[in-house]
Amino acid sequence: MDTLNDIHVETIPVLFNQLTEHDYEQIVFCQDKSTGLKAIIAIHNTTLGPGLGGTRMYNYKNENDAITDVLRLSRGMTYKAAISGINLGGAKAVIIGDPRKIKNEAFMRRFGRFVDNLGGKYITAEDIGTTTRDMEYIKMETGHVTGLPEIMGGGGDPSPVTAYGVYLGMKACVNEVYGSDSVEGKKILVEGVGKVGSALVRRLVKEGAKVMIADVNEEALASLAKETGASVVSLSEVFDQDMDIYSPCALGATLNTENISQMKCAIVSGAANNQLADEHIHGQMLLDKGILYGPDYLINAGGLINVYTELNGYNRDIAMKTTETIYDVTRDIIAISKREQISTYQAANKMAEQRIQSIGRIHLNY
Ligand code: NAD
Repeated sequence: MDTLNDIHVETIPVLFNQLTEHDYEQIVFCQDKSTGLKAIIAIHNTTLGPGLGGTRMYNYKNENDAITDVLRLSRGMTYKAAISGINLGGAKAVIIGDPRKIKNEAFMRRFGRFVDNLGGKYITAEDIGTTTRDMEYIKMETGHVTGLPEIMGGGGDPSPVTAYGVYLGMKACVNEVYGSDSVEGKKILVEGVGKVGSALVRRLVKEGAKVMIADVNEEALASLAKETGASVVSLSEVFDQDMDIYSPCALGATLNTENISQMKCAIVSGAANNQLADEHIHGQMLLDKGILYGPDYLINAGGLINVYTELNGYNRDIAMKTTETIYDVTRDIIAISKREQISTYQAANKMAEQRIQSIGRIHLNY
């Protein structure tokens, strides 16, 4: 038998320190030689319920990048579930490799076995690099999977639910700034008109907002402009626009020191994940500039609420109804931010942590 001398055991204490610092419960390394599967499942916190988070498949440069990503994303899921008032914890999985090259039925089913071995402590779903077809393969091996197609009893595409949550979170911000929920006549720039952005634009236009749209995809822009009457803005001119609301619905980290300084608007609220390049610096910068920020992970939680609904037998009406809580929670967060003079991002984190702590203190005996 070969010795294990090559394992760099000195890196393990470093990893454990990180796990302790942010209180991760469990990290599972999965490998299978026959399929080439290499995956990491991170379960951050299961105080409120099983950890739910998608499986991301990406051609990471190295294992370090993969573990950094899975730790960051699983912790984010804990906060997102907690702030949404649902009984889920935070977890995430990453599969290392190019999804176009090494993914197949055996590969995904082997991953499904690993998920099943966790006995329901981790529930998986679709994410970047995985598809509903992959979820179907996982489903062959475990019941702990959501985000299935509608014909299999799943919730299908969550984007319309996400868009509804973003719309309501935006309205809560509009109420705070303008004294009424109505977006009629408001100049709103939606950056990114994919599945969520386009559904949001339709709602806003219907209500009489003056919508501007920007995207790298010229075709998508032209077709949505034709359908809704929204005006097209070039990406290089987004932050020069005179707008009331900026709604980032494309990539993350679009808000940085340079463009926040340039920005002329009253509200930022959109669907993209991790909108602030640095949540502390840029959350505070928006507060100092008097721009109201609807925390991304709260207002885009409709997608998570949608898969949560699937766990008890999917019903879109229930998913939409549950998503409506985003309006009230956004208002509560704005109130905390004002009262305590902290950014809305900090206020959201605080509220999420308080829910986990208070539920963690009680024993849910039946
Ligand atoms: P999508 O892929 O359907 O749409 C993204 C759009 O952004 C596309 O039209 C694309 O052309 C555009 N885009 C890409 N790069 C761009 C760039 N550099 N500048 C401007 N536009 C660019 O994705 P989606 O499902 O609509 O999700 C949008 C955002 O919301 C993502 O950040 C996603 O992580 C987040 N989100 C989505 C959901 C959901 O239910 N779909 C849930 C939560 C969060």
